[in-house]
Amino acid sequence: MSIPDYISPIIGYRVWTWGTTGLKSLCGERWKPSQSLAARCRASSVVGRAEVVHDTRDVPQANCTCGVYAVKTLDHFRSAGYERFGIHGEVYLWGAVVEHELGWRAQFAYPKTLFLPPDLIPSDTKEMESRLEALAAYSTDIFIVACGESIPLCWKGSGFDAAGLDYLIRDRTRYYVRRQRDRTLMRGDRVAVLGRGIAVVEHADDTEVHALLGSRIIVRMRRNDVAWNQQNLRWEAEASAP
Ligand SMILES: [Zn+2]
Repeated sequence: MSIPDYISPIIGYRVWTWGTTGLKSLCGERWKPSQSLAARCRASSVVGRAEVVHDTRDVPQANCTCGVYAVKTLDHFRSAGYERFGIHGEVYLWGAVVEHELGWRAQFAYPKTLFLPPDLIPSDTKEMESRLEALAAYSTDIFIVACGESIPLCWKGSGFDAAGLDYLIRDRTRYYVRRQRDRTLMRGDRVAVLGRGIAVVEHADDTEVHALLGSRIIVRMRRNDVAWNQQNLRWEAEASAP
């Protein structure tokens, strides 16, 4: 790929969807790493739809809808609500460019900087890794945007940044802790107290659980010691000392 250095590319803002194959436009068109995306005209191929049917490679045309879209300002991008559609970021636009009031349609484009909202990061670790690899392949600057902060995850030409990797590890830990605690343990739930039998919860709060084992033995457990076992599909606990 080459962005001609004798032209200053325009920098706009846009949004992509993100999967294991990398970035796609919202219409499903794939952006390949290290390759500029060359717009083709779809309107022209649908007979009767285009205002003026033109060569699909002679893009963008002023009186058509073709070209790679980007908006001019981050303010407009945000107020139009584009952020919620996926990864957003800055994009280089070059070649023939049609200017509109709020944005551009360009002949060629390539991502410049990507901003990754944490809620898009898959909870499954393998899925996360393969998606991050796919993203790193673009060799652009990538930031995780969390609580108004931009944490560097990847730098163009030098790969992953320790700050972003630390964030992912912390996020992962929080996720598992949350997942375990998000299931609410309630009165009436059954807990397999290992080595002792099934107890029925009498009381549960954030720190403590009391459960009835048999008809008269009250087992007291720390809430953190009671965990949902996904494989056995039941609550399990080590019995604490009575
Ligand atoms: Zn067109």
